[in-house]
Amino acid sequence: MIEHDVLIIGAGLAGMRAALAAKQEGVDVAVVSKVHPVRSHSNAAQGGINAALTDRGDDWRDHAYDTIKGSDYLGDQDAISIMCKEAGDEVIAMEHMGAIFNRDEEGRLGTRSFGGQRQARTFFVADFTGQALLHVLYEQIMKAGARVYEEWFVLSLIVKDGRCGGVVMMDIRTGKIEVVKAKAVILAAGGLGRVFEPSTNALICTGDGMSLGYRAGASLMDMEMVQYHPTTLKGSGVLISEAARGEGAYLLNSENERFMLRYAPEFKELASRDVVSRCEQTEIDEGRGIDGCVLLDLRHLGEKYISERLSQIRELAMDFANVDMVTDPVPIMPGMHYQMGGVQANIDGETKVPGLYAAGEVACVSVHGGNRLGANSLLDTLVFGRRSGLHASELSKKIGHININENDAQSDKENIQRLLDNDKGESFGQIRLDMGTAMKEHFGVFREENSMAKGVEKIQAVKKRAENVYVADKTSTFNTNLLFTLELGFMIECAETIAASAIDRKESRGAHTRTDMPDRDDKNWIKHILVNKNEDSHEISYKDVVITEWEPQIRQY
Ligand SMILES: Cc1cc2nc3c(=O)[nH]c(=O)nc-3n(C[C@H](O)[C@H](O)[C@H](O)COP(=O)(O)OP(=O)(O)OC[C@H]3O[C@@H](n4cnc5c(N)ncnc54)[C@H](O)[C@@H]3O)c2cc1C
Repeated sequence: MIEHDVLIIGAGLAGMRAALAAKQEGVDVAVVSKVHPVRSHSNAAQGGINAALTDRGDDWRDHAYDTIKGSDYLGDQDAISIMCKEAGDEVIAMEHMGAIFNRDEEGRLGTRSFGGQRQARTFFVADFTGQALLHVLYEQIMKAGARVYEEWFVLSLIVKDGRCGGVVMMDIRTGKIEVVKAKAVILAAGGLGRVFEPSTNALICTGDGMSLGYRAGASLMDMEMVQYHPTTLKGSGVLISEAARGEGAYLLNSENERFMLRYAPEFKELASRDVVSRCEQTEIDEGRGIDGCVLLDLRHLGEKYISERLSQIRELAMDFANVDMVTDPVPIMPGMHYQMGGVQANIDGETKVPGLYAAGEVACVSVHGGNRLGANSLLDTLVFGRRSGLHASELSKKIGHININENDAQSDKENIQRLLDNDKGESFGQIRLDMGTAMKEHFGVFREENSMAKGVEKIQAVKKRAENVYVADKTSTFNTNLLFTLELGFMIECAETIAASAIDRKESRGAHTRTDMPDRDDKNWIKHILVNKNEDSHEISYKDVVITEWEPQIRQY
């Protein structure tokens, strides 16, 4: 049987940062990923990573305040303070490991402005920051000698006597199922973007980690907080980075009006994402859109500047919308981008289940609350990835393996056999699409009681159809048909917890905007919603938001 001290599920930035930290502590570390590590969604991050560096006249407290205000006072202020304090060291550490950040005119690390922040504190590598960081970390974990199981798919976590002590996983190349023992398991399996359609997220972002944690007894927190990014391409929903507005792009409606001047006189296009998305949707709903979109205008930046700093998004707009941003404004719309909620974890990554940690987008620490600031997620993955790796390695030095054996893979094997034995029915594709469109329609930018109830009915209908799902490919080599079907199961569970939490929150806060309850209710709702799995349903409970020094204020931009 395979054994490791620390097993990390996910090879994005959170997983690899955790692996490096744990490896440096001298323990035996392995990382599992369903794709090659550098194909993880972190690779797609464009805009940058935030840090308040003192030698730039910036202060971590200002970063913390902007983050807390951005979160609409739902973020835990102790965790936010840690993230903002440790940001500078993390960014410099990445630079020293080999990430080649853009420079300013004096040759120092350069910054650009990002939404909801009063300082330009976003460090970047053109518009492919995630790719640059991910490749550097991959080199580092190779050098440190961490074992990587690439193209292995985790099916379940093994919890015995209340402790997580391993996983069941499948080698995608051969279909072989293995039980793996680990003294500590870190979930770093990323987000759930594709539960919504369209989404800026890669097709692999299917909420596996949130669902794995939920099934194993961990709590999911803040699941109602789903971020709609203000600039995603018409049709495909491909992301056009906030860096475009950070570098000076405007938003225009059909009357050629720069409408953000009206809604957010101070921050304009760089108000928080939830705010800008709502403004755009209002323009579109009130008839000042163009074919369901508004326009992002970069023409005044000029070709040279765009090619130097925004070359990737220029290409994306040409390939996917047939528009060259140098000569024409780009049609964009708000699109699903990020899940603020996730597996509840503390500042060292510990979840409710001993031995199980969570870091990165899969986790909710909670540093993003009701709305994440752009460029705070890469930071979150590095800071809390490292902290989880350290804590998990310390734990693994103190304890032994729990008693698990090959039988622990039995129910996963049976489940897969049941799917393969089914010889008729509907394939996963249409079911997944129907779920995604229902989520967009009923849990998108604006929400309302009756509409959400209808959304729940649609999720239940999708769930029913998925019970008889048909897997046409019966072979064991690279059976992606089977994998997509297993992912559908994870996604439906995520959809259910998003819906349950959204219906439960009786106010508007951050990304959760109810047209029937438009006000923020600080008296009753400065608290997190937690969802736990029970037999065949779920249970909701609450947790107070940690407020240290920043009292809730009216949120204006
Ligand atoms: C297009 C785009 C642009 C973005 N730009 C920015 C930005 O500029 N700045 C910023 O701060 N944030 C940005 N974000 C958000 C940020 O990139 C992500 O939140 C972050 O990279 C997530 O990192 P992660 O390590 O948690 O997960 P990921 O990078 O998503 O990695 C998840 C890992 O888990 C593995 N995995 C998942 N399920 C399984 C399973 N069942 N079995 C085995 N392995 C599994 C995957 O293979 C993968 O290795 C962007 C997001 C997108 C989609």
